[in-house]
Amino acid sequence: MLTTLLSSLKSASLPSSCGVCAAFGRSAVCEDCLEQFAKPRHRCSTCALPLIDTAQKRCGACLTLGSELDSCHAAVDYAYPWDALLQRFKYSDSGDLSAQPALAKRLALVMHHTAGQNQNLAQALRDAQRSDWIIPVALHPERQLERGFNQANAFAQALFPNHPHIRNDLLLRIKNTAVQATLPRDTRIHNLRGAFIAAPLTAHLLKGIRVTLVDDVTTTTATLSAAAQALRQAGAHQVHAIVFARAS
Ligand SMILES: [Zn+2]
Ligand SMILES: [Zn+2]
Repeated sequence: MLTTLLSSLKSASLPSSCGVCAAFGRSAVCEDCLEQFAKPRHRCSTCALPLIDTAQKRCGACLTLGSELDSCHAAVDYAYPWDALLQRFKYSDSGDLSAQPALAKRLALVMHHTAGQNQNLAQALRDAQRSDWIIPVALHPERQLERGFNQANAFAQALFPNHPHIRNDLLLRIKNTAVQATLPRDTRIHNLRGAFIAAPLTAHLLKGIRVTLVDDVTTTTATLSAAAQALRQAGAHQVHAIVFARAS
């Protein structure tokens, strides 16, 4: 009873306080927080790692090893205060998921703010609108059951509310890998090999087309790369990625 009351109060308070500093009477994420924490950064064009040298297009790893992704864009670093916002978005404490769409909208709002100051990101969002399919990175069915929803899908819906083809049925996650946050990039890539497949009945819809993968956060792009590999094997011509936050 108390939990229900608390969570209904929380969701009722969503539109009138900032999701970061909690300043009352502010918008979902206030101007001060956006100015302070969502400054655009120059990033590697295929993995979104922040790069200090603005003349450099791709990071050393992408230049040496190549990338399954044609492009990868992120709005912010996976760091304070966005890590806390993402935690709240991903794991509701009471099991009540009614606040999740509003939280997804906050992430979309931050991304549009950053895009307003970063031409590359703005262009990536426009290009994504023209993708044949927007594909939220799939969760393994067991993980999705545990969590109650796919946060990548909720974020994609908030970011591209008018896109007619956000598809959750084209990409399947068939391997439920453990949380890999502490593992190095090459180990992650190895563990994720074969983690995704194109859904057999709809694989023909991927031939020769342009796809934008969407996820809430990426650490090393290992998951995005594994998903991209599966889509390419089914014949996708271009695979781009848009994530809210990139670990650096
Ligand atoms: Zn604020
Ligand atoms: Zn890179």
